[in-house]
Amino acid sequence: MKRVAIVIPVLNESANIAGNLDEILSHTQVINDIEFKLIVVDDGSTDNTAELIAQKSKSGSPIDLLCLTRNFGKESAIYAGLTHSLKFDAAIVMDSDLQHPPALIPQMITKWQESYAVVEASKSSRGEETRSKNFLVRIYYRMFNFFTKLSISGDTDYKLLDVKVVRAYLDLPEHNRFFRGLIKWMNFSTAQILFDVPDSVRKESTWSNPGLIRYAVSSITSFTAFPLQIVTLLGGVTFLVSVVIGVIALLDKLSGEAVDGFTTVILLILLIGSVLMFSVGLIGTYVGKIYDEVKHRPNYLVDHDRSNLEESE
Ligand code: UDP
Ligand code: MG
Repeated sequence: MKRVAIVIPVLNESANIAGNLDEILSHTQVINDIEFKLIVVDDGSTDNTAELIAQKSKSGSPIDLLCLTRNFGKESAIYAGLTHSLKFDAAIVMDSDLQHPPALIPQMITKWQESYAVVEASKSSRGEETRSKNFLVRIYYRMFNFFTKLSISGDTDYKLLDVKVVRAYLDLPEHNRFFRGLIKWMNFSTAQILFDVPDSVRKESTWSNPGLIRYAVSSITSFTAFPLQIVTLLGGVTFLVSVVIGVIALLDKLSGEAVDGFTTVILLILLIGSVLMFSVGLIGTYVGKIYDEVKHRPNYLVDHDRSNLEESE
């Protein structure tokens, strides 16, 4: 019998967690030939979330509880949960607030059985999100796509991963992780399921606005050093503009229209400005290369199931 882990990061969810876990479990019971286990990762909750989960686990529900020492953030909680799901045949990552509808689990399993390595549940709408937030979110996705050439719009963390994908994900050496982006980057065979985000029973998101902005910046910069190179580009453009303005200033000087000493000042400012910007950009390019190196992200990943290699070791 195949075994599937459901990895659920939780932070301060005491109000709804017990009912939500029951709801999630009820959707796994309609699947006969697979044994499910919830791996709930308590990400440093300050209320009694962990105790509630421990109670359920002790009273016989198929639940493993993993408590982190403090709040490490959702990304780290997912990572911790996946680390403990290697002995399963697949892992499903989902939110605890039912905004990732557990009713999709049977569909995800079917796709997995059709031998897709990744089944991603993507948003067909953005549910309850407010208009302004929606707008910001759209800008964020545009920027992410533009800078990194990875299209993640509509993507969520609600995904089923075959154990080989989990292993590959855990083998990535980098410290700061952006789950959605990295799964896309790994590019194992993927099936997609669309869903509408239901409203959360909890009114507030557990994310603060500054937290979301930090998350946006960190996810883009961990995938590309391109913003650094924009400075070089700007330096080039400034230089071209300064040549034009410089020529005009010189012509004014020659025709005697310029104020005394003004031409020299303009020329110096323009020249120094563009040279500086260009140099900063150049340094940025090298910093970008160093950054790429220290990430130790592998140059390639092998899908051992789909390859046909002679035993080499
Ligand atoms: N979460 C977590 N650690 C955090 C923040 C959130 O484990 O630092 C969990 C939270 O309990 C929930 C999931 O991550 O299960 C998604 O959180 P939330 O619903 O607040 O995010 P949103 O729906 O706004 O994306
Ligand atoms: Mg939510």
